[in-house]
Amino acid sequence: MIQMVDLKGQYLKIKSEIDVAIQEVIDTTAFINGPAVKEFATAMQDYHQVKHVIPCANGTDALQIAMMALDLQPGDEVIVPAFTYVATAEVIALLHLKPIMVDVDPDTFNITADIISKAITPKTKAIVPVHLFGQCTDMEPIIELAKNHNLFVIEDTAQAIGADYTFADGTSQKAGCISQIGTTSFFPSKNLGCYGDGGAIYTNDDDLAKKINMIANHGQSKKYYHEVVGCNSRLDTLQAAILNVKLKYLDTYAQARRQCAENYDRAFLGIKELQIPKRQYNSTHVFHQYTLQVKEGKRDALKSYLELQGVPSMIYYPVPLYKQVAFKKYVTDGFALPITEQLCQDVLSLPIHTEMDDESQKFIIEAVQNFFIEN
Ligand SMILES: *Cc1c(COP(=O)(O)O)cnc(C)c1O
Repeated sequence: MIQMVDLKGQYLKIKSEIDVAIQEVIDTTAFINGPAVKEFATAMQDYHQVKHVIPCANGTDALQIAMMALDLQPGDEVIVPAFTYVATAEVIALLHLKPIMVDVDPDTFNITADIISKAITPKTKAIVPVHLFGQCTDMEPIIELAKNHNLFVIEDTAQAIGADYTFADGTSQKAGCISQIGTTSFFPSKNLGCYGDGGAIYTNDDDLAKKINMIANHGQSKKYYHEVVGCNSRLDTLQAAILNVKLKYLDTYAQARRQCAENYDRAFLGIKELQIPKRQYNSTHVFHQYTLQVKEGKRDALKSYLELQGVPSMIYYPVPLYKQVAFKKYVTDGFALPITEQLCQDVLSLPIHTEMDDESQKFIIEAVQNFFIEN
């Protein structure tokens, strides 16, 4: 059976290592803040070439803690793409900040400095670029813009862990470490997934790191002395132990996903109703999702056709954030962003994962091709 992701197949290939790592945690009963957590944070710092990686309970918490650390005030405006997963805007609203939802670039699905600049007001305090589907937002112009307006930039890199962004001067940074602060998720289906929930925050700023650590741990830097109101957001030792094993394979996993994407590209390039995913010229792509744009209103018919053939596909995302009941109140009646609206109609993500075999991929490709022959 073809699946969007094959977590079982991935586990079986590294079963011996994973099982040992899990058993070790159980044997030592160091369930909370055991040695594997620190080990994982250090390994992540090395991998990302960033000074601080602070593990936490999930990617949504990571965003929330990052924003709490910036001392934003109720009513402050935070610019986010309207085409993203809800978590990005949710934490903004939860902290009584105002999400300002903006359109995205139709080629990369990401926000641009141009789009952001039109949304900046005297109340704007932060920008949250989301590196959607696995490639970096074009960050350099955004960082420049943020500097000029004295704004924070928080990268949501839940979908792009391991992607590399290259600056004009030739230097490069990992996604999440390009601006002051970045956040990620280890949700099982993410590119670096654990076996439950997990997340992390990245920063090169020592003061911010101290604050983030404190907030994630009940606002204390010394046990039972609470300096700020924080939360309880930890990465379980069991999850850290699993992630320690899987981090070693992250680049190999990205390579497998990229190979899969290239096979799709080659097969679909000639189909006029399909737009294959365009690449951001100064970022690598780790293909958390392989997302096609299906033109001429054929998306839903293609999806149903594939389903009948036993090929799953997903719509990320079917509804713009500003049309979600929970977020309507942040926009005026009839508010609409044209590109986001179009993408919600057109996008379709195909199965892509680390265990895709040639036979399955051939089957998926032929199913898509047959649809366009018949329709
Ligand atoms: C998955 C995801 C999150 C949230 O991560 P969780 O670990 O599920 O809380 C946030 N933003 C984006 C873009 C995501 O894809």
